[in-house]
Amino acid sequence: MIIVMTPDHTSEDLQRVVRRLEDMGLRAHISHGEHRTIVGAIGDERILREVPLESMAGVEKVVPILTPYKLVSREFKKEDTIININGHTIGGSELQIIAGPCAVENRETVEEVASSLKRLGINFLRGGAFKPRTSPYSFQGLGKRALEIMARIREETGMLIVTELMDPRDAVMVAKYADIIQIGTRNMQNFRLLTEVGNIEKPVLLKRGMCATVKEWLMSAEYIVSQGNEKVILCERGIRTFETETRNTLDLSVVPLLKRLTHLPVIVDPSHAVGRADLVAPMAKAAVAAGADGLLIEVHPRPEEAWSDGPQSLTPKAFEQLVDDLRTIAEAVGKKL
Ligand code: PEP
Ligand code: MN
Repeated sequence: MIIVMTPDHTSEDLQRVVRRLEDMGLRAHISHGEHRTIVGAIGDERILREVPLESMAGVEKVVPILTPYKLVSREFKKEDTIININGHTIGGSELQIIAGPCAVENRETVEEVASSLKRLGINFLRGGAFKPRTSPYSFQGLGKRALEIMARIREETGMLIVTELMDPRDAVMVAKYADIIQIGTRNMQNFRLLTEVGNIEKPVLLKRGMCATVKEWLMSAEYIVSQGNEKVILCERGIRTFETETRNTLDLSVVPLLKRLTHLPVIVDPSHAVGRADLVAPMAKAAVAAGADGLLIEVHPRPEEAWSDGPQSLTPKAFEQLVDDLRTIAEAVGKKL
């Protein structure tokens, strides 16, 4: 349920509404928009049915939100959420590309990729320090050493760092190095982890669980936002279907769908969706045409030598061609690249 305050409400009116909600055992989430102040009632709002909030001073109207997710819903907030990270925005008119290797393997390789990306005007560098691998015998990531490498490259290039957090115990350390904290597909419903990043003041890139419905995905975003961290970026990365020719099936219809259901930015990761380099560029272009706010693409200087996800990684040269092609598509849908 959301409570829309009148344009001329006083701070006492607002306080009274908040106190009333808290007395009922609910939490109040206040959002000061450009034209309106809105209070979200968080908790089991059924108890509010009998409470005449509408007659309280300063209250314009009370609107029930029908979806199970509240704060992330379009009903709650009409304007797009634009996340500003050091002057680079995600969710607005800029098309942001996050690119880099699947994992940080060593300093030289990441430096090599970073300098080619930087030349193309890419602002966000990705690289895994903690890798969620299917096999315990596969490369698990360099951990803290990888974070230090990324931090150094950040200093050298000014690029912003995107890296995955897998374990709440590493949250403080990862948050210290990352500009955007990635939550991977396998952890989309790790609710302890979501609560943890909800309490950190860093943007969170929340990947769709490979078997998650849109509703479940948005409920996971709600976990983060309800803790107070409103900087959530949704990332479609393909879902499991019966098809085996591609690693996953890229569900591009979620882009326009999410734009209706939520105000959060939506980006697309074609690399993990298709799992093969030859299909990455066409799906990246399709994602931008569908209205994505950005892309996440794996790039490796020598994909055949990559320690993880080599088959889906683009070479810097192929990536350069893609960025070139994307400019016209971005322009056609009103985005700047
Ligand atoms: C990744 O980005 O390297 C990754 C592991 O992604 P996902 O969680 O989508 O599999
Ligand atoms: Mn990967």
